[in-house]
Amino acid sequence: MNEQWITFANSIKEIYQKDFVPLHEPTFDETEIDYVTDCIKSGWVSSVGKYVDRFEQELAEFTGVKRVVAVVNGTAALQIALKVAGVQAGDEVFMPSLTFVATANAASYLQAVPHFVDVSEKTLGLDPIKLEEHIKDIGEVKSGQLTNKHTGRIIRAVVPMHTFGHPVDLDPLIEVCERYNLVLAEDAAESLGSYYKGKHTGGFGRVSALSFNGNKIMTTGGGGAILTNDDKLADYAKHITTTAKVPHRWAYEHDEIGYNYRMPNINAALGCAQLRKIREFIEQKREITSIYEEMIEKLDGVRFVKEPANSTSNYWLQTIRIGSIHDRDTVLDFLNDNGVMSRPIWTPMHELEPFKNMPKDDLSTTNRLKRTLINLPSTPMKVK
Ligand SMILES: *Cc1c(COP(=O)(O)O)cnc(C)c1O
Repeated sequence: MNEQWITFANSIKEIYQKDFVPLHEPTFDETEIDYVTDCIKSGWVSSVGKYVDRFEQELAEFTGVKRVVAVVNGTAALQIALKVAGVQAGDEVFMPSLTFVATANAASYLQAVPHFVDVSEKTLGLDPIKLEEHIKDIGEVKSGQLTNKHTGRIIRAVVPMHTFGHPVDLDPLIEVCERYNLVLAEDAAESLGSYYKGKHTGGFGRVSALSFNGNKIMTTGGGGAILTNDDKLADYAKHITTTAKVPHRWAYEHDEIGYNYRMPNINAALGCAQLRKIREFIEQKREITSIYEEMIEKLDGVRFVKEPANSTSNYWLQTIRIGSIHDRDTVLDFLNDNGVMSRPIWTPMHELEPFKNMPKDDLSTTNRLKRTLINLPSTPMKVK
């Protein structure tokens, strides 16, 4: 690696004032300590307490989505979101192959079948044009329901994922969903604070899912949330994520097989504290973005991945795309050896053992992108 890269690595360490810069760390101050201490002092740290309701309300306000159900993690949120939206055992669900494994796992927990489609170069998320071409190729509408003519299975839903916080091109995707009677369920795990045409991601689908894992833009330790504008779906999601217990002062009645997926109060307390600072985190991410953009102009054969048109990204993970003059693994070795933690994008789902035999479209863009995308340190911080 040449002088340009040495300067690059040194600048990142200077900005973060660290000899080893992690990819993403949570940011806490007295606020978190106060909220969590209050929760512990109250004794209500588990499945009952005021912070869960408060966290749900504040998230609804922040995202502009009517209803929020807080759960134990983002994977569980996605599983239940898909379930309440009507995904059933044996259904196929369109999703990108270029995603974190949780998207495919969540569908699989419902005994549904992930059906992998390609992504767009511009958004790194589902490509609506390619999706429609694929539907025309393999789809057949039977009694109003799209089916896969090769497998005979119903294709129920589409799960776009807003990669690294960059919103998918939602308008044309919504059109495809309407044309083929497909449920739109957004995996918005990475895009809290990202907007498409001024509206918060996660507010477009019939349901969507957020994650508050420790590496996300804000954290509850572990946690997730189901978002929906549909009261009925929200009530049902709340019901089945709290063991499907029929409300009663003392009786234990459960009217179906439910899940113990409720977010504990102590995690919600942490979430309320983090949510107070979410705007600041997003601002700081975008400041880091402008610094990276400037630095990367000086690197030959490297481009900075910018937010797509019509959208405002939270820039959760800062990302570069390396050209063919570079070998990805050499770049990764160099950065990690020189104190800059960096990693490649996920191995696409269609290459993973549990999903390699799932139905899929031509994935040429996915296969091209997977060798070229690298995430850089992205912890929000005051840079000025
Ligand atoms: C983080 C993430 C999830 C959910 O993850 P949990 O760790 O279960 O909270 C789901 N999908 C994507 C794309 C993610 O990045």
